[in-house]
Amino acid sequence: MRFELTEEQRQVRDAIQVFVEEEVEPVARELDRGHEYPAELLQQLADQGIMGTTLPQEYGGLGYGMVEYALIIEELSKGLMALGSAINVHVITASLIQKYGNDYLKETYLPEMATYDTVGAFGLTEPNAGSDNAAMECQAERDGDEWVINGQKRWITNSPNADVISVLAKTGPESDRYHNISAFLVPTDADGFEIGKEWDTLGLNSVQSCDLHLNGVCVPEEHLIGEENEGFMHVVQGLNVGRVNVAARCSGMARAAVEDATAYAKEREQFGQPIGDFQGIRWKIAEMEVKADIANLLTLRAADFADRGHGDKGREESIAKLYSSEAAVENAHEAIQILGGNGYTKEYNPERYLRDAQLLTIGEGTNEIHRKIIADRVLGPSST
Ligand SMILES: Cc1cc2nc3c(=O)[nH]c(=O)nc-3n(C[C@H](O)[C@H](O)[C@H](O)COP(=O)(O)OP(=O)(O)OC[C@H]3O[C@@H](n4cnc5c(N)ncnc54)[C@H](O)[C@@H]3O)c2cc1C
Repeated sequence: MRFELTEEQRQVRDAIQVFVEEEVEPVARELDRGHEYPAELLQQLADQGIMGTTLPQEYGGLGYGMVEYALIIEELSKGLMALGSAINVHVITASLIQKYGNDYLKETYLPEMATYDTVGAFGLTEPNAGSDNAAMECQAERDGDEWVINGQKRWITNSPNADVISVLAKTGPESDRYHNISAFLVPTDADGFEIGKEWDTLGLNSVQSCDLHLNGVCVPEEHLIGEENEGFMHVVQGLNVGRVNVAARCSGMARAAVEDATAYAKEREQFGQPIGDFQGIRWKIAEMEVKADIANLLTLRAADFADRGHGDKGREESIAKLYSSEAAVENAHEAIQILGGNGYTKEYNPERYLRDAQLLTIGEGTNEIHRKIIADRVLGPSST
């Protein structure tokens, strides 16, 4: 067993590292404070092919695996987690099409999604269906060779900038829970589609999360992604890109928090010596370092398992997502403490890491739900 990246993987990571240092870090705080969409940075990434990282080359993608994807998202999220978030919802929809879509969807949308000329978002959650997604009320009904969609979605990340959104809607009888939901590709310029309330959130300031209203939105039959009534299963069982992305974003923030705290501890002097010489601070940094390393290892393990098709129905991804998101929150919290009063201000990054990391204990399945998934693997399914 080897814990080494390949030469190509190192090059991919190093190139993004340079991009983050030169382009992202100088503007990240301002983008966050101004609630400003990082359009320019996303375009620069698109120009480097990053939006099609995991798409096959025949559709204009880079054809990389999940390990390369995780390395890219980790580095970007060290600079600005919102970048990893906008990419996540785009890649989830592109991957749904790639994995389950018909030839028409693949040929029409994937080349433009690989270049980010068509921007994607992902619409699953509803006001009354969060952790229990299968309780969704959004409905799609066949009408000739079209589907008519009615319903509402909540907190759909980057929806105001999206051209297409994969929307999950009920298409089968209630008795077939989990096998009565289909996925549709909905163009955001369709009649009856509206972006609703923009939520004022604790973090993820640079990318908006909004409600969607679908009032009689018609999409052609070919916009059904995958099998009718199996959309939910496609999303929960077939897509590891989202969970690996979340774990990678958290691993990146956990690492960024250690680096910021270390730099500060070396420089800041009290009682005539750098605070990094006090054992109280050194032990904090040691613990942060361990957490950042474990988060990184678990993230890369999940990505590697996904690449090799070894995943046990999401076990490794759940473990990586759960651990990394809590490590990111804890490291951000400790970094604030190490920076003292400065850590409590918006002149430094750790408060942003804390606000951004907290979301990832909730999004992409709450950590309680991931604990349930892991416990079910260990103990067998529970009766509740
Ligand atoms: C900023 C932001 C961006 C988002 N972006 C998107 C997006 O792009 N697309 C999308 O589809 N969704 C998105 N979401 C939705 C997100 O995935 C949901 O918020 C998440 O799945 C939790 O659902 P909920 O908020 O309804 O919480 P609830 O499901 O109501 O949960 C409330 C609490 O109950 C706990 N709980 C629920 N069920 C159980 C159980 N069985 N056992 C133990 N505890 C339980 C939860 O863990 C949580 O602590 C976003 C959310 C936010 C805040």
